[in-house]
Amino acid sequence: MSITLVSGSYILAGLCFILALAGLSKHETAKRGNLFGMIGMALALIFAILGTVLQLTDSDLPVSTGGPSWAILAIVLALLIGAVIGVFMALRVEMTGMPQLIALLHSFVGLTAVLVGWNAYLEVPADVATGLHNGELFIGIFIGAVTFTGSIIAYLKLSEKLKSAPLSLPHHNLINLGAVVVVIALAVWFVIDPQLWLLVTMTVISLALGLHLVASIGGGDMPVVISMLNSYSGWAAAAAGFTLGNDLLIITGALVGSSGAYLSFIMCKAMNRSFISVIAGGFGSDGAVSGEEKDYGEYHETTAPKVAELLKNAGSVVITPGYGMAVAQAQNAVADLTAKLRQQGVEVRFGIHPVAGRLPGHMNVLLAEAKVPYDIVLEMDEINDDFANTDVVLVIGANDTVNPAAMDDPSSPIAGMPVLEVWNANTVVVFKRSMNTGYAGVQNPLFFKDNTVMLFGDAKERVQDIIKDL
Ligand code: NDP
Repeated sequence: MSITLVSGSYILAGLCFILALAGLSKHETAKRGNLFGMIGMALALIFAILGTVLQLTDSDLPVSTGGPSWAILAIVLALLIGAVIGVFMALRVEMTGMPQLIALLHSFVGLTAVLVGWNAYLEVPADVATGLHNGELFIGIFIGAVTFTGSIIAYLKLSEKLKSAPLSLPHHNLINLGAVVVVIALAVWFVIDPQLWLLVTMTVISLALGLHLVASIGGGDMPVVISMLNSYSGWAAAAAGFTLGNDLLIITGALVGSSGAYLSFIMCKAMNRSFISVIAGGFGSDGAVSGEEKDYGEYHETTAPKVAELLKNAGSVVITPGYGMAVAQAQNAVADLTAKLRQQGVEVRFGIHPVAGRLPGHMNVLLAEAKVPYDIVLEMDEINDDFANTDVVLVIGANDTVNPAAMDDPSSPIAGMPVLEVWNANTVVVFKRSMNTGYAGVQNPLFFKDNTVMLFGDAKERVQDIIKDL
């Protein structure tokens, strides 16, 4: 096998990744997109390994280090260990655990970029290394270190091992800015004179910066951080690709980096946040948890038979699912309820908030899995004006995404975020287990409105109860 064949397969893999991204942009083509992604990744893995083995076989690695055969054995062993851990994790992870798993995987990409950069520094003697080489590895370690610690904090926040409330150190914006200025100064110095202490200092500052940037973000703003870290992990991989001279890593890293940046831009727009503030980690930082002491009045409880009665008499129903639907795994029951209501002539549609759940597109994935027809699943902007003409809204496990405080309370941590304006409907039924807050940790005045009724319990069980009563 020749190097040309390896390069050719890299181009093919790159094309598969582009087709995967294109496919994933629409419900109807998402499966095909995934398939292209898998084919691309299989090609990339197989040919990257074969290419490396080829290089090693031709290399003159000293016998004292075991020669090429030991290096090849080390690669095979690393592959086997990685594959076993990967399969084990993939089999064990629940759908609700995916966001934190993805954050953890981003942290591995960051750590890899740091290790690749450090290896490149230690491997090439300072008197031989060019300024370009030094610059490349410096940038790679910087992005990698920020991604590494940032993703670890994101993992801890998403798995609720760390409180989602923002850490608000005094002058935190100044701290971030100061860190970036120092890193730029160190970069210039390092390119001219690559001393070890410069790299050590930058690595430590970057690790601390990643930690601080993500710790400063409040719970409600985490979606943007997740997509931002996704983008950073792409750039970290691209930087590692430059250092290793691996074209596919550069292409793939750039694809992930740019699509992640675009996704962050879309998320920022959806959440009415400034893109620049996100990159600077400078929002969601006032630590406010508004309204906790406020008296919201009484809430009204209902039962499954009463909701079934309400639905029998409804002409139009909108379902707004949230993270609780994923926790309860209620998507199939919700799909059955939808089918039953549609059979009875009720118009049923879904309203999806862009940050509902814990992953971009989380609700769309669940509804697609339950085979809910795509044409009745609408985006927030498409449905918001229709609530006023809707008889019943079923809020299934959603909280922050239907919170009117985002519009009415400027001191709320989620202030300014557009939400599903469900309260404009005739009646709102909220499915949840208690009066607990959502991910952002803020109380929801919707629950206390006169036209809202609370149906307590596990969302899947309650939906099944309603189906029985219909
Ligand atoms: P929330 O996290 O605001 O609320 C979910 C609600 O579901 C809770 O109030 C909970 O109440 C209820 N719930 C949990 N389990 C069940 C169950 N088994 N049955 C019934 N109800 C249940 O959800 P939203 O989707 O409205 O909002 C998403 C939040 O997550 C936003 O703040 C968003 O910013 C954030 N986020 C989103 C990400 C994304 O990419 N989409 C990533 C990271 C964060 P109770 O405990 O009383 O049952």
